[in-house]
Amino acid sequence: MATSARQRVKRVARQGVAMASWASGSLAVRALLGTRPRVRALTYHRFGDAPGDPWCVATADFAVQMRWLAERGLLVSLDAVRDYDAGGTSLPHDSVLVTIDDGCRSLVEEALPVLREFAVPAVAYVSAGLVGAAAVAADHAEPFATWDELAKAQESGVEIGSHAFDHRSLARMSDAEALDQAVRSREEIGARLGTPVRSFAYPFGTRADFDARTNRALADAGYEIAFHSVHGSIRPGMAPIGLPRVKVEGGEGQRIFELTSRGAMDAWRAVDELVPRLARARRETHAR
Ligand SMILES: [Zn+2]
Repeated sequence: MATSARQRVKRVARQGVAMASWASGSLAVRALLGTRPRVRALTYHRFGDAPGDPWCVATADFAVQMRWLAERGLLVSLDAVRDYDAGGTSLPHDSVLVTIDDGCRSLVEEALPVLREFAVPAVAYVSAGLVGAAAVAADHAEPFATWDELAKAQESGVEIGSHAFDHRSLARMSDAEALDQAVRSREEIGARLGTPVRSFAYPFGTRADFDARTNRALADAGYEIAFHSVHGSIRPGMAPIGLPRVKVEGGEGQRIFELTSRGAMDAWRAVDELVPRLARARRETHAR
């Protein structure tokens, strides 16, 4: 299937999951039951004007999303999430940590003014070996921010975390290479920006891109907290290396965003779990 057709199908499916969660009342039921508060890390990538690109959120939409969260007091920092995960603090129900992957230039040019306006305690995950590089592939459609630009983001309150050294899947490397990626990126970012790097986001972050072995490499490299990209909420007591996130896609509209940030896309985890299994089954069928 062509990429754009596949994206259209996926968008309809995501909206279906979000609306079904709302229509079935599961969000309302959960709120009424007052279960332990759920916290989510939202994942963004690029910002700007790129209709049809699910990896790019329009800057005006991003501003509306941040205003909506700020007005409700739902924006929390990495520190707050870490303490909440460790069971030490309580956070408002449906609190949100904003994370932005890849360190593309639109992080600085488009997102940063919005993050500043609403005092968003965001974390940006950058691959140290790609900082300042030109666009490398179709899935990185814009150049990467420079170290000076990242320093500017940091001065504005954005914490910079590691997204491996050169944005390759850690699960597809040897133990030694995965550890090297984790250590080198942490050291380089720390040296360039002058602050300790304590968190990591897995490149790609699908089920096929992390496992117990890579989690161990991150812990050995000194990371306190790490996120993958399988959908889900964060609850106290979860292992801090290997926390889920929820992706925000471009063009989904404010209603879907509000549902997503309140847990309507947590169920997408089933798709995240299923797709690599199907791919593996397909590979095994072909290998036979
Ligand atoms: Zn990435």
